[in-house]
This record gives sequence, C-alpha cells and structure tokens, in this order.
Amino acid sequence: MEDYSKFDLIVVGAGFYGATVANKIAGRGKKVLVLERRNHVAGNAYSYRDEKTGIEIHKYGSHIFHTEDEEVWKYITKFTDFNDYVHTVPTRHDGKLYPMPINLDTINLLYGTNMGPEEAEKFVAEEAEKAGIKNPKNFEEKGISLVGEKLYTTFIKNYSEKQWSTSATNLSASILSRIPVRYSHDDRYFMTAKHQGIPVNGYGKIVEKMLENDNIEVRLNVDFIAVMDEIPTDLPIVYCGQVDELLDYELGVLPYRSLKFEAEWVDERTEDGADSKLGHAVINEADADVAYTRTHFYKYYQIHEPEVLIQPRSYTVREYPADFVRGGEAYYPINNAENENLYNQYVELLHERYPNITLGGRLGAYQYWDMDKAIRNALDFVETLEI
Ligand SMILES: Cc1cc2nc3c(=O)[nH]c(=O)nc-3n(C[C@H](O)[C@H](O)[C@H](O)COP(=O)(O)OP(=O)(O)OC[C@H]3O[C@@H](n4cnc5c(N)ncnc54)[C@H](O)[C@@H]3O)c2cc1C
Repeated sequence: MEDYSKFDLIVVGAGFYGATVANKIAGRGKKVLVLERRNHVAGNAYSYRDEKTGIEIHKYGSHIFHTEDEEVWKYITKFTDFNDYVHTVPTRHDGKLYPMPINLDTINLLYGTNMGPEEAEKFVAEEAEKAGIKNPKNFEEKGISLVGEKLYTTFIKNYSEKQWSTSATNLSASILSRIPVRYSHDDRYFMTAKHQGIPVNGYGKIVEKMLENDNIEVRLNVDFIAVMDEIPTDLPIVYCGQVDELLDYELGVLPYRSLKFEAEWVDERTEDGADSKLGHAVINEADADVAYTRTHFYKYYQIHEPEVLIQPRSYTVREYPADFVRGGEAYYPINNAENENLYNQYVELLHERYPNITLGGRLGAYQYWDMDKAIRNALDFVETLEI
C-alpha cells in the first residue's frame, strides 16, 4: 500500500487554486502531493497547442486573464509572459455585429441614429421610462426598466434565455442588478482590468511551471475519492472538487449550469471559414434562432504570433448552455439561498467526518471565480495554513 506519510500536504485538483497552494507550500520546503483526475493540469483553464497550426486550444472554453489585483499579477507573471490582447466581444443580431457591452455605437447602429453621448443617454432613459415599470417583478421587466424594450429584447433577452434555458419572465429580477451602457466608443470587455492578456505559451504551460518543484509530486488520472480510504486521516488535504460528490451526494446534488462545446476545423479560404475570417476571438449570439450563445475562434487570441493568424486554418467552437447532470461538468454554480443552504450543510458534514479536509477552489467554494480570484483566494488561504 502507498505510504502517504512522507507528504506534508495533499492537494486535490491541479487548477489555478490547487497549483498556487502547492507552489507556495512547496516553497516552504514542505512535501506536497497533487492528485488530479484529468489527464492534464490547469483545471478548467487548460489550453494546449495544436502542433500543425500552432493554435492554442482552450479545452473548456475561452479564457482571458484579467485582473486588478497587483499581487496576483506579480505572482502569475513569475511563470509566464502575457501578450497585449485586449478582449472585445461583438454580439451578432440578424447577421450584423454590435459592440457589447452596449456602447454609443451599439445604440446608434440599432436605431439607425447618429447621437452623441448626452443625446444617447437621454434617449435610453426615455426608452426605459416609456415602459412604465416601477417595481419589476422578474428579469424581463427589470431589463426593460433599465434600457427600454428594444435594447433589452435585441441583446439581453434571448441570450439570457438561452443561458438559463427558461423564459426571462421565470427568472428573478435580482439576477440583473444593472445592464452596463457606455456612452462612449469604448468596446473593451474588461474595462476596469489593470492587466489583461493571454499567456504566450498557453495555460497548461503556466501551471506545469507552477508545479515544477522537487517538493511537489503530481499524479494525473487519479481520482481522490477512489484512494481516500488509503490516506491517513491526520494528513492535511486541500480538496478543490465538489463537496457533494465527495460525500456521495448524501444530502442531494448541488445545482450547476453546464456547457456543451461543438468544435470544428475550418479553412478561412472557404465559405465555412467566413465567420472566423471576421477576426474576432469570440462572438456572442444574440438571436433566439441560433441555439448556441457564443462562437469562439481561438487563433485570434494569439496576436503575438502573426504566423498563427495568417495561416488559413481555424478551430471554431460553438458554445451551448446545457443542463448539469450529476457527475457531469460543473461550470456555473446556481447561487440562490436554497443552494447556499445545502452547500453549508455539506461543509458542516465534511468538517464532522473529515476534519483534515479543507475545501478550496471554485468547486470547493461553490462560487464562480475568475482565474485571478482563484489565485487570490489561494494566496490568502496559504497564509492561514500552519504547515
Ligand atoms: C466557460 C468558462 C469560461 C471562463 N473564462 C474565464 C476567463 O476568461 N477569465 C478568467 O479569469 N476565468 C475564466 N473562467 C473561470 C476559470 O475557469 C476558473 O477561475 C478557474 O478554473 C478556477 O480554478 P480552480 O483551481 O478553482 O478550479 P478548476 O480549474 O475547476 O480545477 C479543479 C480541478 O480539480 C480536479 N478535481 C475535482 N475533483 C477531483 C477529484 N475527486 N480527484 C482529483 N481531481 C479532482 C478537476 O479535475 C480540476 O482539474 C471561466 C470559466 C468557465 C466555466
């Protein structure tokens, strides 16, 4: 039987959270075992290079690194350089592309006007007012009350209904606290990010580098749940997976939304490649008759590699929202009071049964976190870890 007692810490999950914890604790001279059930590190941010075309494929959907956190930026840039990519996402309606989030150009294009900032702001306020909704009772009413019927119906309604797979009138108004509208030409998606970009060698390589340390042993294709009975109960464990799964769904399934990706290689010299030739990394699909929500063209993240951009092949991915089924890919937690309550019950049960296990990462915390947030939380966590 395996002797685990030579390790000071076991980290389950080699995503950004687990890799940060392992890297920091190994830096203290402690021995860390990282168990990852997939056949690669980097968790959901994982990307790898297609050797033929040089295109970096983001296996679980587009990932753009962006942060306002200087300490996280300083930490992550020890392992990689980033290119100067600035994320913009047009949204497609009736075959035409509009800047998203809504800006001055979106408004003028949709209404066929040529308004300046002040005029447009007044106009949108009047459109919202026209609807006469004082106490919005659901997502749809809230959306209309914020930007008026036309902007809401064109850009928000169908996209959200596809995302949540239900009518906007069934969704809570509380999901939509605001709809960002910019009365300028600024079309940056991450407007407040002090730093953003794509790692020049991809996400898989960053995490490999974080885990490159004589004090770290990484074992891929190992599910912790299958080996947990062999592990001493006094060995500290950081678990970056789903707590309901760990406890065999004893209290029920923690709800998530999931995604399905449909990928295709296209040649930009043919009609099939026309969409890719537009040169955007992501296009949002606003219309109800298009079942997917986003189309990704990963090559356009690689602005530091012109040879990748000019070669004619493109990897095109259509992203479909999907229901989550137990054991499937958990993407977006559904954070309402009922689910939070279930999560808290699981946390209590875990502490009773396995006081040596601490939950970590976006799955363990049952939260949606961007990569920088996962790293931030891991950096904070290791400060509390007395080993
Ligand atoms: C579609 C999508 C797009 C996103 N885009 C962005 C973006 O553009 N920018 C951004 O900053 N963030 C983005 N994110 C968020 C980003 O993916 C997360 O912040 C990041 O993956 C969190 O890292 P983590 O380590 O917490 O979790 P994960 O990356 O999920 O890692 C957890 C790891 O634990 C492993 N694991 C789970 N259970 C077990 C077990 N029992 N045994 C062994 N291993 C186990 C899993 O296999 C996984 O590899 C996006 C997320 C999604 C869903």
